[in-house]
Amino acid sequence: MTSLSDIRSTFLNFYGRNGHQVLPSSPLVPRNDPTLMFANSGMVQFKNRFTGVETRDYNRATTAQKCVRAGGKHNDLDNVGYTARHHTFFEMLGNFSFGDYFKDDAIAFAWELLTRDFGLAKDKLLVTVYHTDDETAQIWKKVAGLTDDRIIRIPTDDNFWRMGPTGPCGPCTEIFYDHGDKIWGGPPGSAEEDGDRFIEIWNLVFMQNEQFEDGSMRPLDMQSIDTGMGLERIGALLQGKHDNYDTDLMRSLIEASAHATSTDADGPGKIHHRVIADHLRATSFLIADGVMPSNDGRGYVLRRIMRRAMRHAHQLGAADPLMHRLVPALVQEMGAAYPELGQARSLIEETLKNEEVRFRQTLDRGLRLLDDEVSRLGDGATLPGETAFKLYDTFGFPLDLTQDALREQGRTVDTDGFEVAMAAQKAKARAAWSGTGEAADATLWLDLAEEKGVTDFLGYDTLTAEGQV
Ligand code: ATP
Ligand code: MG
Ligand code: MG
Ligand code: MG
Repeated sequence: MTSLSDIRSTFLNFYGRNGHQVLPSSPLVPRNDPTLMFANSGMVQFKNRFTGVETRDYNRATTAQKCVRAGGKHNDLDNVGYTARHHTFFEMLGNFSFGDYFKDDAIAFAWELLTRDFGLAKDKLLVTVYHTDDETAQIWKKVAGLTDDRIIRIPTDDNFWRMGPTGPCGPCTEIFYDHGDKIWGGPPGSAEEDGDRFIEIWNLVFMQNEQFEDGSMRPLDMQSIDTGMGLERIGALLQGKHDNYDTDLMRSLIEASAHATSTDADGPGKIHHRVIADHLRATSFLIADGVMPSNDGRGYVLRRIMRRAMRHAHQLGAADPLMHRLVPALVQEMGAAYPELGQARSLIEETLKNEEVRFRQTLDRGLRLLDDEVSRLGDGATLPGETAFKLYDTFGFPLDLTQDALREQGRTVDTDGFEVAMAAQKAKARAAWSGTGEAADATLWLDLAEEKGVTDFLGYDTLTAEGQV
């Protein structure tokens, strides 16, 4: 069986052979980019190169980039455990041309790698193009011999990429694999496209224009290529699987979770194991890159992922903290490709353990309260926002954890009500402060609270009292 490690090397070697500089992944926390929470694609480390702000001595590069999509524009947290193809942490394989080759070669390289080196069946592949991009459709016909019915024209932003509101942009073409009609889902652009029958494996972006503030666009002097293919998705294909979680690497983590909890990997706890395996990777890689759990910003995203995983461990009946016990399995699987994991191993274990020990003090009681409240609700009724807020405020349940717990029962939270309760709490704290007569100090403190966000603001008197912070 071709392991994910082998596939990663085959990819990098293929592009290396074709004149690309093989470069390491950049850290998950982007340098010099406070607007971006985490690296979420391969192009992030090359942004300044694409805009021409920076020059380097090569104009082709290839990477396997660590990505996290658990917040902001790309948030796959809610997909994990439910779809065959999403992770919060994954590796994106990419090749980049900085003003060097363009559409023809980008497509020819991708097709050659997929169908020759990787040996995928041509008749299972289909592509999308931006609806006005005839040039790309023609190249697909010429290079791959695809017929019109396998070149789907998409008029939406799914096939038009933008670096931001202004700057480089352009159409993209995506390659999909058809897993056959035993699996639910329709081709891209159809009503059933969210199913898992047609799985998107590779996105090729053609940076050909620059977008200006007034909405106008002009062709770029330097036209560039940015591509991204999920290692776990191509891995599933090459291992004859439909589901990313059935690949060698993910399967080892799932089995470690099953073993540590003395439960069946494919039994009723199947979803829990999938989520745990995924969140183990996301949390460990984030900690290895210097993120620590906290009550705002990046640290709060980490904390949310950790606590979500910890609830799933609890559902499996884990008597002791679980997550830190799975770290050796992860280091075993990924430590060679990512030495930072082994280097940070004890920090990762300690951080996961401390968080789980603390969170377990309130998790049990919080879940009991949730059960009580749910048992009083009618069939399918939403959970009142006030209850979700109480779980957040008193028991340290991030809102998404409560939503995740309820989803298993087909229920949702009244999020508007949650916001109202949050605002009321804030107003109360504000009123209490304005009574001190220390107007200047109070304003300063409230400004700070505003700036830091309400989670930190509440942190002082509530979360600390519950041993949360
Ligand atoms: P999808 O439509 O399946 O959510 P996407 O269009 O959001 O994917 P892109 O932003 O185009 O994905 O990213 C490029 C490639 O990275 C995808 O074609 C896919 O192979 C991979 N990828 C994207 N998101 C994930 C994820 N959450 N987990 C694993 N691989 C992913
Ligand atoms: Mg997506
Ligand atoms: Mg997509
Ligand atoms: Mg895409």
